[in-house]
Amino acid sequence: MSSTKVKALVIGAKDFKEKDKLVDLFTLEEGKMTVSMKGVRGEKAKLKFAKEVFCFGEYVLENTKGMNVVSQVEIIDNFFGLTNDIDKFYEASSMIDIVRKTVTTQANPQLFIELLKALKTLCYDNVRNLYVLDKFLVNIFKAMGYSFLTNKCSSCGADLSEIRYFNLAVGEIVCPSCKNASCISISPAAFSALKILDQADYDKLASVKLSPSSEVEAYHLLEKNFEWRTGGRFVSALI
Ligand SMILES: [Zn+2]
Repeated sequence: MSSTKVKALVIGAKDFKEKDKLVDLFTLEEGKMTVSMKGVRGEKAKLKFAKEVFCFGEYVLENTKGMNVVSQVEIIDNFFGLTNDIDKFYEASSMIDIVRKTVTTQANPQLFIELLKALKTLCYDNVRNLYVLDKFLVNIFKAMGYSFLTNKCSSCGADLSEIRYFNLAVGEIVCPSCKNASCISISPAAFSALKILDQADYDKLASVKLSPSSEVEAYHLLEKNFEWRTGGRFVSALI
């Protein structure tokens, strides 16, 4: 029996057998892993908090019969404030869903750190919740290699003035002459809202203020872009 220790955040869980759970972990070391937690649905179970979504800690895994069984957990933060506040909960659930649709069994330290930063900001800072999700998406697209906040058309290189289009097929910004059927227009206000969100670090988001119409447009653009980039929708934070 070999044991390993991973830094991980719980991104999903389902009931298994009488009192067990099969828990999906997003680990720093190995990407997504499904592990078994024995007896954790019992009221008095020692590890019952470690099975909850958003729980972040060091999980010790024992490999028995090809299955990773959690033997010990040192909780670093369970982000209780996210389950306690319905608005924060929706934003955080969107992020978890985005991660579930993005992670593989390959380590992705950049995404891991990004998720922790975003959850921390959402949980502890006095921010407009939607901006944390926006920022998280902007950074994910950047990490995927899309630079869509440029001042030049990605297709012909022309300088962009006030009129810009977002080409969903390629995830980049184009000029009116390069616009095609897969383009949607993006208003100057929404473009500058995205730029502001891009440039503000998570710890500065509390001081960001955007106009209501530009923030809705910016969010919908990010949401659509995610769908085009990954082929799936995430559970929306706007209901
Ligand atoms: Zn162009």
